[in-house]
Amino acid sequence: MDCIFCKIINGEIPSHKIYEDENVLAFLDITQGTKGHTLIIPKKHIKNVYELDEETIIDVFRVVPMIANALKKAFSPIGLNIINNNDQPHQSVFHFHLHLIPRYENDGMQLSTVDNFGKYDPKYFQDLINSIKEEL
Ligand code: AMP
Ligand code: ZN
Repeated sequence: MDCIFCKIINGEIPSHKIYEDENVLAFLDITQGTKGHTLIIPKKHIKNVYELDEETIIDVFRVVPMIANALKKAFSPIGLNIINNNDQPHQSVFHFHLHLIPRYENDGMQLSTVDNFGKYDPKYFQDLINSIKEEL
């Protein structure tokens, strides 16, 4: 399969591994958006969140606190973001992964949400709830 992360798992291409167990691999993101920027991936090839099964995400998240704490102790960041991109506009590798991004003062990392507080009435929220619940 032509998947760069599967190739890393299989040892076909090199990576900077920081943790590995039977089901999960954590390695440094090649771009190092901030110091210690780490990716955590399941060894099972899963495209993104829409294809995830419960067992696999449990395997992935089981190691998150351990790695987050290691990054915290190693580099003393002021905070840490956990990011997961699915399809457009940001997913570039189609093998599920979590980004652990330690944050530092003035690190230049742009991550923000849009604040639409006060823009919508109660009916809008109720319509959203109805639409989502129909699909659960
Ligand atoms: P995303 O844009 O969420 O799909 O993130 C994919 C990430 O994989 C990017 O941050 C890339 O820098 C990273 N990446 C791609 N190839 C490699 C590689 N060979 N080793 C480490 N990180 C990689
Ligand atoms: Zn893969």
